Amino acid sequence: MRARVLSGIQPSGNLHIGNYLGALGNWVRIQHDYESIFCIVDLHAITVHQPPEELRAKIREIAGIFLAAGIDPKHSSIIVQSMIPAHAELAWLLTCLTPVGWLYRMTQFKAKSETQETILDGILQYPVLMAADILLYQAAIVPVGNDQAQHVELARDIAQRFNSLYGETFVMPKTELPLVAARVMGLDDPTVKMSKSAKGAGHAVALLDPPAAIRKTIMRATTDSNSGVDFEGMGPGVRNLLNIFQAFSEWTDEQMQAHFSGMRYGDLKKQVAEMVVSRLEPFQQRYREISSEPGFIEGVLKEGAERVAPIANSTVDLVKGRMGLYTEGTT
Ligand code: ATP
Ligand code: MG
Repeated sequence: MRARVLSGIQPSGNLHIGNYLGALGNWVRIQHDYESIFCIVDLHAITVHQPPEELRAKIREIAGIFLAAGIDPKHSSIIVQSMIPAHAELAWLLTCLTPVGWLYRMTQFKAKSETQETILDGILQYPVLMAADILLYQAAIVPVGNDQAQHVELARDIAQRFNSLYGETFVMPKTELPLVAARVMGLDDPTVKMSKSAKGAGHAVALLDPPAAIRKTIMRATTDSNSGVDFEGMGPGVRNLLNIFQAFSEWTDEQMQAHFSGMRYGDLKKQVAEMVVSRLEPFQQRYREISSEPGFIEGVLKEGAERVAPIANSTVDLVKGRMGLYTEGTT
């Protein structure tokens, strides 16, 4: 049996090149080596208020983006988290064995709670739900960007705790990070991670941005006070632009150095912009075709849910049985 892969993206805004390079592009590359499940994690998205109509539209848009990027629905299951009640159910069961101290330590919780006046419980519980997503399918591999590595580590801790309390139940998941661009930084501020939920026009290149907008955002990116590219000492903004180019082009370090050493920032930005546009244009064309085909995306999501629900339900049954809760076999 092939090992199972699981990963997800929140329908909480416009998908950007960080999501592509850190997660989605990797999924496409590795999907056929595993039994793959890719999840639109809408229950995670509502940890921050989402206007219902926008959320509904985003879920469909993201499914279309997965398909346009090259996720093969015949092989990989594309699912919406809220279509499968077992995610929320397992999350509760795991909540009951997770110390809150583990959750308060999470970097993302600290960062996200700082920006909010009222901190919702969902923001704190977020990593437990993510652990449930992973453990529900006994996933061995979780391909994510660098920012999610801590949450996968927590999923391991939770799994270990469950296994030691109730007996071997869960497969231990491990992170798989991309080699280049595991952490794409904001183009306006290269000291913070590029994020869907960050505000500001110059922050991110969205995967569905028209070419003119992509060029504009990259040409305005923050660099440093040097006059050209110096591989011996460069600021985070220049490093980020080079990383983006390298991840899209798949050039080696040697090729990068030979080509970009000493290049003026205006030229660097032009080349980065053209590289990004050339990679995104065919993807955007496929997206338009897929999203305009009536019923296609809905069919893929239904099929995905039907394929994985039995796995999810049997894990919940197993867990409930181990914990002494009522299951069908209970007498
Ligand atoms: P939000 O601001 O809503 O949290 P996000 O951009 O962080 O959005 P997520 O849906 O939280 O996106 O994450 C989806 C996947 O994309 C995860 O695997 C995450 O590690 C990866 N990812 C997110 N941002 C980046 C980034 N800047 N660079 C590389 N990978 C990223
Ligand atoms: Mg995030």
